[in-house]
Amino acid sequence: MATMTTNPVEVATMKVAQIASAGGDFQIVERTAPNPGAGQVRIQVQACGICHTDVLTKEGLWPGLRYPRVPGHEVVGLIDEVGPGISIWTEGQRVGVGWHGGHDGTCVSCRRGDFRHCRNAEIPGITYDGGYQEYMLAPVEALVAIPETLDAIDAAPLLCAGVTTFDSLRRSGALPGDLVAVQGIGGLGHLGIQFANKFGYRVAAISRGSENGALAKKLGAHVYIDSKATDPAQELQKLGGAQIILATAPNAKSMSAMVEGLAPNGRLIVAGAAFDAIEVTPLQLISGSRSLKGWVSGTPIDSEDTLRFCELTGVRPMVETYPLERAGEAYARMISGDAQYRVVLTMGE
Ligand SMILES: [Zn+2]
Ligand SMILES: [Zn+2]
Repeated sequence: MATMTTNPVEVATMKVAQIASAGGDFQIVERTAPNPGAGQVRIQVQACGICHTDVLTKEGLWPGLRYPRVPGHEVVGLIDEVGPGISIWTEGQRVGVGWHGGHDGTCVSCRRGDFRHCRNAEIPGITYDGGYQEYMLAPVEALVAIPETLDAIDAAPLLCAGVTTFDSLRRSGALPGDLVAVQGIGGLGHLGIQFANKFGYRVAAISRGSENGALAKKLGAHVYIDSKATDPAQELQKLGGAQIILATAPNAKSMSAMVEGLAPNGRLIVAGAAFDAIEVTPLQLISGSRSLKGWVSGTPIDSEDTLRFCELTGVRPMVETYPLERAGEAYARMISGDAQYRVVLTMGE
């Protein structure tokens, strides 16, 4: 696409970064731009964050995944065509799509108003093509309005990494002044530390190596715990025990090592998606009435709350950007764990 145009009729082909089969490399291909059906919009994508969970699409780890598939569930762009039957969204409006890519409105969870846990939930990049492309289709129930003051590149990571950490912490029950630990300083953790600080918690950041300490403090941590040099659970106990530990690094072993750092009634919130088992003994949970809890992203309105909070408080992701054409390189950078801290794809000009 050499030039972008406001006239959708001229959108004929588009560039796409797709995975052709499980475990395959990224391919940059041209496709015909799709037209929105009833209840859908077409988005001219401006930016798409790369999430660790994109590994599900890349490696074929989601049951029933069909290929070729375009990953990406941290999408920001402009609505460039509105399908039939849509009243509240308009052409030219800036929107986003996160992990919550749609719900059926009819299953038991939806009938209880719990759209997050829809039995037939859709996920961009998994059940339909996501944001690693110049144009994508999205159902209206997945759309997030983006505040004008937020840059597309800043807003994109807030639609998964942001809403996950924001929503899990704001609903965690921790009160201002409580000790809240954020384990891992990556795509999720570097946002979690900022939110925890703005929520008024006493924030302990936990990561491997002393070199992350200065940054953790800059992001708003009051205490930095080097899990390579010390036992993080013991360090948390020295501080009185953590009311909440938000585990963001996709590493079950390091999560297991945190449990002993919880205060009475403390809770470990699991946000980093790993495949191996967290080890915890019944006695560890019984003594102190501790608990473990998973957390899945959030609904579009939770994302809008996240974006507005960021607008209000100045919380922003730190990003490395790559053009869409270099999606493979960008993904490898994310997988390396060395990115500082979220990798974001940008589309054409
Ligand atoms: Zn994600
Ligand atoms: Zn449902």
